[in-house]
Amino acid sequence: MKCLPGETRCSGTCSKDAVNCHSHCLVSAWLLRLRKPAGDLVKLIQNYIDGSFVPGKQEFADINPADGTTIAKVTAADEAQVGGAVHAARLALHGEWGRLAVRERAARLHKVADAIEKRFDCFVQAEVADTGKPVSLASNLDIPRAAANFRVFADLVKMAGLESFQTETLDGANALNYAVRKPLGVVGIVTPWNLPLLLLTWKVAPALACGNTVVVKPSEETPATATLLSEAMQDAGIPHGVYNVVHGFGPGSAGEFLTQHPDVDAITFTGESKTGAAIMKAVAPTVKPISFELGGKNAAIVFADCNFEETISGLSDAVFLNTGQVCLCAERAYVERRIFSAFVEALKRKAERLHSGWPNDEETNLGPLISAQHRDKVLSYFRLAREEGATVVTGGGVPKFGDDRDHGFYVQPTIYTGLPETARCVKEEIFGPVCHIAPFDSEEEAVSMANDTKYGLAASIWTSDLKRGHRVAQQMNVGITWVNCWFLRDLRTPFGGAGLSGIGREGGMHSLNFYSELNNICIRL
Ligand code: NAD
Repeated sequence: MKCLPGETRCSGTCSKDAVNCHSHCLVSAWLLRLRKPAGDLVKLIQNYIDGSFVPGKQEFADINPADGTTIAKVTAADEAQVGGAVHAARLALHGEWGRLAVRERAARLHKVADAIEKRFDCFVQAEVADTGKPVSLASNLDIPRAAANFRVFADLVKMAGLESFQTETLDGANALNYAVRKPLGVVGIVTPWNLPLLLLTWKVAPALACGNTVVVKPSEETPATATLLSEAMQDAGIPHGVYNVVHGFGPGSAGEFLTQHPDVDAITFTGESKTGAAIMKAVAPTVKPISFELGGKNAAIVFADCNFEETISGLSDAVFLNTGQVCLCAERAYVERRIFSAFVEALKRKAERLHSGWPNDEETNLGPLISAQHRDKVLSYFRLAREEGATVVTGGGVPKFGDDRDHGFYVQPTIYTGLPETARCVKEEIFGPVCHIAPFDSEEEAVSMANDTKYGLAASIWTSDLKRGHRVAQQMNVGITWVNCWFLRDLRTPFGGAGLSGIGREGGMHSLNFYSELNNICIRL
């Protein structure tokens, strides 16, 4: 099957040709076609409320970061529509969904995963079109992980036990304490653009597994896959109102309408630390559980005894994966002085071999940044680094292609050295394909520089001395530390950040505990 530009036939049966058709095959029931005055076809991404696709009154453009073209129009939910979504979610709590046995809920979540896999190519293309990320990344990471999120939490919730204690009362009788897990209620989920479906389902799956209903507000930059997920929900027999999607921006828009809504029982958010602060303020008057996964300024510590080739390869991923737009990316590397020059040179060679191609080209391993606005921000840090006295090892500018990618939001992979530890470029999250490398002379010095940040998300240690690996890892003030690897994680383990990087932990039982209200029952025996 070959999709033509603007085709509406895609429903999970895309062929390879369709995959290669460069974003045109993602049209489905969730997209209407509109005719612009010029006669071009654009697509309309709508809200999904109480099982129906609902247009809003205001539209905004969904831009392809690879060439700056508009790939769809998105209709924003107004305050009343966000309220309608919350109301639908409230009613659904007490409907069929609320009556399902845990094993049946889990079975439906497996069906959601099946439905994602059935529409795999559509999801990949939607994600690639929205983010400009390489098709290899969307197909190997984003979409498989989205399906895995549903499977993992479906299985976990079936096995989840809770502690019980037999206690002696003051008058010598016995009492049995045991806890039961209940849904929190309606969960508001606000997510970013960097790993859109992966991060959204990381929260939707455990929330639903625990019996909640959800209203999600995906990033305005990446509205497609959250909307496409509505179809997967329908396929899987998830009742109307259990999964709702409202589109729009943050302040004065759907994000704020959702987080301020008094009838939302909990808010879980992934995004920038300063947005987390604004949401915390919005949520405060109605006192509800929050879970925040926020920004980072992550350090890598490279000891001279590391496996050099493996470390260069690992660090190249840690700095440049998804064009540096992963909260866990390393923007600071501290390298033992003995190997500093060789290390900088080797990482430079690696950076210069990255291929900034079209997203659908299998060879591409470096996509554009998400938006013109974000590129301006990253370029402003490139300028600032020079003003702060950095030596530019490689990059620091915008590549020239001589084709439509020149209208996209690409920047060069960039490495700096020579900045003082107090420089803003060393302290502030840039969220681009950029790393500052500094030398160190002792383990203590490396630990102290790595920990000298208000963030506390992730760190990586590279050494062949495992004892040192343990010792240094345990001193890191972060939510996750990798030794001789990066980005690996079992979904059952805790994930979150310290300091400005977040509040709480999700993952495995930590997710189930966040998305549940525990009722401790005490019985006098
Ligand atoms: P962002 O904070 O700008 O936006 C995230 C979401 O919040 C969007 O949906 C946005 O519309 C919404 N929003 C913005 N202001 C709001 C407000 N006042 N009220 C309610 N909603 C609001 O973040 P971003 O630019 O989309 O994502 C990049 C950031 O996310 C980086 O800082 C990155 O480190 C962080 N991030 C963290 C993790 C993690 O797990 N810790 C994962 C991915 C990304």
